[in-house]
Amino acid sequence: MLYIVTTTGRCNLKCRYCGGSFREDIVPYDVRYDIDALSHIINRDADATVVYYGGEPLLNSEFIRRLNSRIKDKRIGIQTNGTLVRNFDEDFWNAFDFALLSVDGREEINDLNRGRGVYRKVIESAGYLKSFGIETIARMTVTEYTDIYEDVMHLYGLGLFDRIHWQLDVVWDGRWDLLKFAESSYLPGLRRLMKEFMHNASRGDIMGIVPFLGILSAYYFEPYTHYPCGAGQGSITVNTDGRVLACPIAAEYTWNNLGNLYNFRRISSPDCSGCEYFRYCGGRCLFSYMERYWGEEGFREICEVTRRTVDIVLENVKDLDELIGRGTIKREDLRYDPLKDSTEVIP
Ligand code: SF4
Ligand code: SF4
Repeated sequence: MLYIVTTTGRCNLKCRYCGGSFREDIVPYDVRYDIDALSHIINRDADATVVYYGGEPLLNSEFIRRLNSRIKDKRIGIQTNGTLVRNFDEDFWNAFDFALLSVDGREEINDLNRGRGVYRKVIESAGYLKSFGIETIARMTVTEYTDIYEDVMHLYGLGLFDRIHWQLDVVWDGRWDLLKFAESSYLPGLRRLMKEFMHNASRGDIMGIVPFLGILSAYYFEPYTHYPCGAGQGSITVNTDGRVLACPIAAEYTWNNLGNLYNFRRISSPDCSGCEYFRYCGGRCLFSYMERYWGEEGFREICEVTRRTVDIVLENVKDLDELIGRGTIKREDLRYDPLKDSTEVIP
């Protein structure tokens, strides 16, 4: 199970699409439950991954130290905005296996969304974390200003990130013309990116592009039967007030409440009956499935982009089969488990 542990609802940034801190009555800024109740559950779970979340989780580093000292031999990660990473020494970071750093691509695109000077800090942080041997994952938010090919390739070219993941800025933000962006920029860019992926694969190198790996993994190995992020089944969020949630960002919604650390339920899988893409998409995102802020039509537009994304990736499986057959790459190289990284697979 993946345990997303929110350490505070407070954030030191106010990104354009996010708005910064949670309301304190929804996600308190300090932890208000018995830490031993949580460490006990985690330690009993042989397959536990723990990822710290916020707000900006490093604003409550004391809690992170306390929980880390109580859990043994678990995969530990953090989702951070990357601005405070260098305030902590090697001793602190030694407890970690992986870190997701929010960065949207090229400096001008990132700083437009996240604030001036943020790009440089995050890039320095990525280098700092890598110097301790921590796996780094770039976590991009894709807006209408993104050039997906240029921005992913820019991050890839820095050589500081083991994997790159992105999510479309849809549903939780105001509506914008997704289909126009998809047709004119995003889908052609994905196609170019997939070509790059295949070019590298033909030389035996698998690029760590999470949406591609996640879709290929569902093709070659286990298909998704639920949202790939695991919300409410393979993953739970422990909110600072002690509530157990399905999805970390939807702390104010009652459908998202699963209970508390002593007694919590699982949620059911989405009903996407009739959609032949379900095995690769898994319903994409619980939050957008439940809260259709963009209406039914908006939901269908996002599905359309998802289907086209899956098509762009799977068009290449014949060539991948050949590379596997020739021994250039191994089938196993295409296995990807989003619950080990706290990623969502489908942008
Ligand atoms: S593309 Fe849409 S309908 Fe199909 S599985 Fe994904 S979320 Fe469900
Ligand atoms: S994909 Fe959706 S349901 Fe899953 S964690 Fe992200 S916002 Fe929540």
